[in-house]
Amino acid sequence: MAEAYQMCIQCVMDTSDPHIIFDENGVCNHCHEFEEITSKRWFPNEVGQKLLESIIEQIKKDGQGKEYDCIIGLSGGVDSSYLALKIKDYGLRPLVIHVDAGWNSELAVWNIEQIVKYCGYELHTRVIDWQEIKDLQVAYLKSGVANQDVVQDHAFFASLYHYTTKNKIKYVISGGNIATESVFPESWHHSAMDAINLRAIHKKFGQCKLKDYETISFFQYYFYYPFVKKMKTIRPLNYMNYDKVHALQELKAVVGYKEYGRKHGESRFTKFFQNHYLPTKFNIDKRRAHLSSEILSGLITRDQALIELEKPLYDAIELKEDFAYIAKKLGISIENLMEVTQSTGHSYQEYKNWDHLQKLAKHIQRVVEKITNKNVKIYS
Ligand SMILES: [Zn+2]
Repeated sequence: MAEAYQMCIQCVMDTSDPHIIFDENGVCNHCHEFEEITSKRWFPNEVGQKLLESIIEQIKKDGQGKEYDCIIGLSGGVDSSYLALKIKDYGLRPLVIHVDAGWNSELAVWNIEQIVKYCGYELHTRVIDWQEIKDLQVAYLKSGVANQDVVQDHAFFASLYHYTTKNKIKYVISGGNIATESVFPESWHHSAMDAINLRAIHKKFGQCKLKDYETISFFQYYFYYPFVKKMKTIRPLNYMNYDKVHALQELKAVVGYKEYGRKHGESRFTKFFQNHYLPTKFNIDKRRAHLSSEILSGLITRDQALIELEKPLYDAIELKEDFAYIAKKLGISIENLMEVTQSTGHSYQEYKNWDHLQKLAKHIQRVVEKITNKNVKIYS
């Protein structure tokens, strides 16, 4: 299996992304996209500070007389935790929610509690029925698709958006950021927002009915939320010089935040999925995308990234423990879990999905733009 991989000379993305394109100098499309598109939405400077100040003012203004002026979902990770602290500094009044889809480590919950206590927020926790999550997760494993985190991610966004509309909130504050997430090969991951795909996979491989597990439809995601409810996602970390290392230091100093280390992470399933399932089944090492993002935003050098990539993805003993833990929790045998991890992967396109609707939406968008002579933003 000694296949020759070509790696970008500027970042660390390589041909494990089947859609990667190199220019004549060996620089990849992700690097070009960062220069041409992504960096135009990233302001790690005084300009960003000014822009952010005016956005905050608008949020406060629109929220006058309401119980909350924005919403934030806390996972316990560094990005959203740091953002929760910043929001307090800005004087915003967020509805803070946490979605428990069964895999959160105790430490993540502990960290969330510290932040909420320090900021004086009231935490709303949405616990999703574990039997349904379990059934859906096993269905996803049987389907063999790449993105096994859809089950947790879709649950998170569905809960977040439903809370948002229920409480008549306009602004969703997101920890998403260009500094650490700009490189994201589409071929590695199908969107977690595709509920048609989720339902098709569950229909084929699931056992129970999904009653408690909420989904977001294509119509809600692309039309109802952005145009009817006028919901807006704000990513404040793109308007500051966001550096995860410093953010972590601040969190530790201010609220006593505890680092996850590599043992369990925030979610033990996500760790298993990223560090074992994806590399074994699809030859995807997600660290490449994260590290490439950090190189492009100037947080690390390419040499530092290469050293990081040399480190093993899993400790052998930890992997054995995690196999046992996950299999037991999902009610399947270890052999079964090994089988679904090692067998040939499947594309999400083998199951019904939203691709045709997306094509149609893009077509309508172009027509509307032509008629009105205005740019119509597609929600993302
Ligand atoms: Zn590159």
